[in-house]
Amino acid sequence: MFVARVAQRLPENVPGVFFVDDSCIDCDACRQIAPAVFARSPRLGQSYVAAQPASATAEARALMAVVACPTASIGTSPKRPVGAATSAFPERLEDDVYYCGWHAEASYGAASYLIVRSRGNLLVDSPRAARPLYDRVDALGGVRTMVLSHRDDVADHAAFARRYGCERVMHAADAGALPIERRVTADVPIALDDELTIIPVPGHTRGSIALLYREKFLFTGDHLWLDEDDLRLDMGRGVCWYSWAEQLRSLERLRDFRFQWVLPGHGRRFRAASAAAMGAALDETIARLANKRAR
Ligand code: SF4
Repeated sequence: MFVARVAQRLPENVPGVFFVDDSCIDCDACRQIAPAVFARSPRLGQSYVAAQPASATAEARALMAVVACPTASIGTSPKRPVGAATSAFPERLEDDVYYCGWHAEASYGAASYLIVRSRGNLLVDSPRAARPLYDRVDALGGVRTMVLSHRDDVADHAAFARRYGCERVMHAADAGALPIERRVTADVPIALDDELTIIPVPGHTRGSIALLYREKFLFTGDHLWLDEDDLRLDMGRGVCWYSWAEQLRSLERLRDFRFQWVLPGHGRRFRAASAAAMGAALDETIARLANKRAR
């Protein structure tokens, strides 16, 4: 399962037990999970080991990155056991919201999330189907609903649907021939219940949707994220497959909602100090991207 190749280790890796090989797809998962160990090489456009773990805690985080890596690009030599790391996901972020780890190559290493609720758990996008993750999700109560933000991040949705019998929810414009139980056709916000709202955010794809939970957590798929380098909210014109003008309008419409977290598929998560602070960050992003449009 975890088979990074020593012979293919990148020259940037510092000497030591952990290494990254040349199959890295630059998904950023390892750098978010273990920033003390992994960094990005601008020359390669790939991750490498910038510092070997200097403590037991740092090593545990690095082993979680081994598990999360979608391409098995991170290795250890001599081999370190990953048993504890496989049980570390889903990892709680805040309240009842968890980060799933176990990124899937089929969704280019996008992040996925689990909301643990007494009325039935909800997966946002698809992690990699893996026995240790199933076991942990089982212990947390399984999955009743799976919301798929857009067509790129569906990965192992079919395996999760088979295992849990969960209802998949997706916008019809992105669902295509996928066997989706509930297709959203409206282009206006739709309440799934009193805590969850689907917000259409066309732009990256025609059928992109965001999911708002308890007016605190906004799951954004590939619509909006925190930029790794300048630590500001951002969107990607270079990865906009449908309409940049629509994506900018979708961004502006998010100002109608209150939330404190942005939880993306790709890019960094962002927790603002308050909903007002998130609003200010959104305003700055809207103005900055509008200026870019004007140039
Ligand atoms: S998690 Fe794996 S694929 Fe993603 S950036 Fe790190 S080494 Fe590369």
